[in-house]
Amino acid sequence: LQAWQEQVPVMAYDRIMAVQAGERLVLARRIREALDRQEFELHYQPIRRISDGRIVALEALLRWRQRDGGFVPPDVFIPLAEASGLIVPIGRWTLEQAAQAHGRVAAHGHHDVAIAVNVSAVQLLADNVPEVIRDLQREHRLPRGALHVELTESVLLRQPQVARMRMLELRVAGVGIAIDDFGTGFSSMTYLRNLPLDSIKIDRGFVHQVHADERNASICRALIALAHGLGLGTVAEGVETAEELDWLRRNGCDQAQGYHLGRPAPLDKVIESIVEAA
Ligand code: C2E
Ligand code: MG
Ligand code: MG
Ligand code: MG
Repeated sequence: LQAWQEQVPVMAYDRIMAVQAGERLVLARRIREALDRQEFELHYQPIRRISDGRIVALEALLRWRQRDGGFVPPDVFIPLAEASGLIVPIGRWTLEQAAQAHGRVAAHGHHDVAIAVNVSAVQLLADNVPEVIRDLQREHRLPRGALHVELTESVLLRQPQVARMRMLELRVAGVGIAIDDFGTGFSSMTYLRNLPLDSIKIDRGFVHQVHADERNASICRALIALAHGLGLGTVAEGVETAEELDWLRRNGCDQAQGYHLGRPAPLDKVIESIVEAA
């Protein structure tokens, strides 16, 4: 258990411990089978530019629907996949799917919609993600900017040098880089200053009721000013109401994502709605 624990990011570890030990073992074995049985699928959620509502990216979100109809949320199975190393093949599969998704969206005339992929800390350090992406770019003839990656802050803490190198390679390959759930980890000004980032995604905990909650408003205002001062874009996560979106618009946030702007859905559905809106 010791070795296993050491591989798991601190944040994820809490979430894993919330699942009973016996259940964890069963789940880890089931993840291995799920890959072979193709029980994973990706849903896509729009990220919109606030000024005009246009979709600038689709975030790929993993879904695991078991054969018996059971549903395991990614917050539970991703940490387990990280702990067992299975995040590497899962992550490769996800990137491949994202590359295909870009081609399908582009085929409908929307070449400028990026696909954003969550890349786990373990995956970034254990696999050569920039090389995997470069291969996909060649194979699928992806334009620069077609793929974005979202990293959480834990990656930057664990092996900052390796993480920084990988990020520089991604930047050279034209991959946009966002820090996910910004503000929930160990947000360090040092890495905001030193790493090749394009944007921060403000965690939905700070976006919640931002028009009415003075504390959240202060934090969001500060994060937007900080990001812009460093030349970074801002994406608000978890926007659920028109009031929140309004506040974000008035306060200069660049992009937004959340149920109010579109729920995660299978790619076909998302493409339908993009085509209808255009
Ligand atoms: P995340 O990257 O921060 O993704 C946003 C999460 O918020 C998603 O949960 C999304 O469904 C949910 N969400 C979106 N809009 C709203 C809203 O308005 N209100 C609320 N309450 N929630 C909203 P989901 O899909 O359950 O994913 C949870 C986390 O699992 C993700 O957080 C990400 O960290 C991880 N994850 C998902 N897919 C992948 C993947 O392919 N690879 C890796 N490594 N991690 C993934
Ligand atoms: Mg994300
Ligand atoms: Mg997030
Ligand atoms: Mg998250």
